[in-house]
Amino acid sequence: MTNEIGWRLGFFFSILVIMMLIEAILPARKSPIKSSKRWLANFGLVFASSVVARLTVPIGLTAVAVYNQEHSIGLFNLITLPSFVVIIVSLLILDILIYWQHRLFHKVPLLWRLHRVHHADAHVDTSTGLRFHPIEIVLSIVVKLIAVSALGIPAIAVLIFEITLNGLALFNHANIRLPQVIEKPLRLILMTQILHRIHHSQRVSETNSNYGFSVIWWDKLFGSYKDSAIKSDSDLDIGLVEFPNAKQNSSLLSLLIMPFKK
Ligand SMILES: [Zn+2]
Repeated sequence: MTNEIGWRLGFFFSILVIMMLIEAILPARKSPIKSSKRWLANFGLVFASSVVARLTVPIGLTAVAVYNQEHSIGLFNLITLPSFVVIIVSLLILDILIYWQHRLFHKVPLLWRLHRVHHADAHVDTSTGLRFHPIEIVLSIVVKLIAVSALGIPAIAVLIFEITLNGLALFNHANIRLPQVIEKPLRLILMTQILHRIHHSQRVSETNSNYGFSVIWWDKLFGSYKDSAIKSDSDLDIGLVEFPNAKQNSSLLSLLIMPFKK
């Protein structure tokens, strides 16, 4: 835990660069707008979200987990279980929590206003995996803070979860199409790019499916799994019907004010 930032940034930038390189060489779909325009807006939003998160929730999740451990706060800090069991159960619980949080952001109109910033992107690529409104990022941190403290989730589980979730979000938003021989077995466990693009379809029944960012288990278990869309992966209409203008949602300012628009 001594070099937490190093581990996080190391994984983040490595996966980011690898996915962006692969999608630049072998893109699955063509972007309807210039990539540089979208990237400026999407990466601008990442920067804005990081600043807002740091100002509103200045303490890190792992620091809270360490504090909880030292002060016996939360379920797992009050009972004795082998540490590998606690770590595995913690990872599963956090992942289910994120699945339901995502589903709730689709279901509750006020939350959808925030989450639609992510879905309004007219093209899906690695940068889309980072495109979230700052308020959604802050709400997500608060939800995780409550879960980590109530359950006494150990710091190492928090770190593994954050690195994995972040990495998989970059992976499954990438504008690539894995060869069938890899994609077929992989989609039995993980949310692949083709499966996640269904979640970015303009068709509401398709948007409201495949909520998982990592494994497909929770979508299967809670009945939201879709293995194919009506249109093929290359013809799928991506984005939101209510934001048809690709340019209009490709500037940082328009993304920041999008939740407050009618
Ligand atoms: Zn979504």
